[in-house]
Amino acid sequence: MKILLVEDEVRIADEVIDALKGAGYVVDHVADGETAWFQGDTEEYDAVILDLGLPGLDGLSVLKRWRGNDRRFPILILSARGSWSERVEGIDAGADEYLPKPFHMEELLARLRAIIRRAAGQVTGVLQVGPLSLDPKQMRVTKDGQALNLSPQEYRLISYLMHHAGRVVTQIELTEHLYAQDFERDSNAIEVLVGRVRKKVGPDLIETRRGFGYVMKGDGE
Ligand code: CA
Repeated sequence: MKILLVEDEVRIADEVIDALKGAGYVVDHVADGETAWFQGDTEEYDAVILDLGLPGLDGLSVLKRWRGNDRRFPILILSARGSWSERVEGIDAGADEYLPKPFHMEELLARLRAIIRRAAGQVTGVLQVGPLSLDPKQMRVTKDGQALNLSPQEYRLISYLMHHAGRVVTQIELTEHLYAQDFERDSNAIEVLVGRVRKKVGPDLIETRRGFGYVMKGDGE
């Protein structure tokens, strides 16, 4: 899962980046509105954390431009305590969640998990696909109740495929969602990674569609 963090306060940004990485996410960070708008308009993200008070273009304008351009990733807005009217305007403009500053990191992570799972059509915190069960809070995947021993990259792959079970996910899409923007994109890397994950979850759960991509089999398939 790849997150875009838009935050101009260095101290907060550093703390959030550390927490996100610790929770298994890949993070791109930008610190002003214009760059944020461009980044969100051209890259693929699983969720965006958007500060409203930004230099240059303000967060609300960035949000409205994204939604106006049909960018649909879930958005959590951060705003100064007391600016409730800003938050109302943000939600009306298409934000999914908000958090007033200062906030507890645990709450930010919980709200982030919630908007990501809602975007995937999930209601409960633990995601179940066939014999696999994913607990994003614990960063844990189990198969038939047995915990799988996964590297961070393997975890990200399974997590992405489980959130999109039942549909074809292309290699390009996986590259976009599993690696930070500055990562050197090697077409082979995904194939190798899928191979490693198959060894851990068994050969049948992730199907290769030659020339298209991969499908994690949903229930009943
Ligand atoms: Ca700010």
